[in-house]
Amino acid sequence: MDKQECVCLPKLSRVAVCGGTHGNELSGVYLVKELMKRRPQEDDEDRNQPILVLSNPRATQKCLRYIEVDLNRCFSHDALNSPLSDSTPYEVIRAHELNTQLGPKGSPDSVDLVCDLHNTTANMGLCLISFSDSDWISMHIFKHLQQCIPDIPMRYIHFDLPSDESYSLDSVGKHGFAIEIGPQPHGVVRSNVYTTMKDAVEHMLDWVRLFNSGTVFEGGPVDVFTLVKHIDYPRDCNTHDVIAAIHPQLQDKDFCLLNPGDPVFQTFSGETTTYNGSESLYPFFINECAYYEKGIAFSLSRKRCVKVPTVWMHQDQSNKL
Ligand SMILES: [Zn+2]
Repeated sequence: MDKQECVCLPKLSRVAVCGGTHGNELSGVYLVKELMKRRPQEDDEDRNQPILVLSNPRATQKCLRYIEVDLNRCFSHDALNSPLSDSTPYEVIRAHELNTQLGPKGSPDSVDLVCDLHNTTANMGLCLISFSDSDWISMHIFKHLQQCIPDIPMRYIHFDLPSDESYSLDSVGKHGFAIEIGPQPHGVVRSNVYTTMKDAVEHMLDWVRLFNSGTVFEGGPVDVFTLVKHIDYPRDCNTHDVIAAIHPQLQDKDFCLLNPGDPVFQTFSGETTTYNGSESLYPFFINECAYYEKGIAFSLSRKRCVKVPTVWMHQDQSNKL
């Protein structure tokens, strides 16, 4: 836990809002298109406006998650520094383009904040997913969203990886997170999910404006769900076919504590298999459609409380700007 209670941070001058990183996750696709429509052409360079990005236009046009490879796994330092050739997949080329537009990742020129919009078929409500549990900007935005949209279940998920291994688009910014909202089937837009995403983006941009105008944001506790491991479906050893579905008692129970011995799968012949871990953990991404190919039936996380310090913008910068 961080011992600091107050932290001064630089102004967030350039903020990017990205949708369609997965081309069939339609809330973000339609929200970014809508925001683009509302903005007069001449305001494109207005630095008070967020940079709007349709991340994977070819996949979006075809309403597919991706064309060749998952774009949101193409932003590790290794992938961004790999040479391009005629056989480079479309998404790797696109990741290099986005890194030029919003990065370079890890450099002083990168945008200050990337907010990447996603949907999940899992019953996860609204989640902020980040590679850091000490990015106070992301955590304060999360606290702000909790206050502004109190009727939506909201969690902060931490993918605990070294920064050079972070692989998603939001890792290109100095600060960044994904907003993941579900359940919504891929290739479908539901108005309630779209509206939640729109509200979240508007409140996020409000928070940035308040922060940049010198508002002091009081610290406080935030529950963080840190990824522990992924669990695959039971599979046939020879064909690798899935041989069971998520158990009805686990389906839709994202973030409900899973205890050793609880049912997790029901095989297609009708048997129940149980959770054989030694520690009670919180499941999420339960039965996410896109993760069958990744060998993930659900993920498990450990919950802990992080004390977030009070933050405000560094005064020197406020005087200059
Ligand atoms: Zn996605």
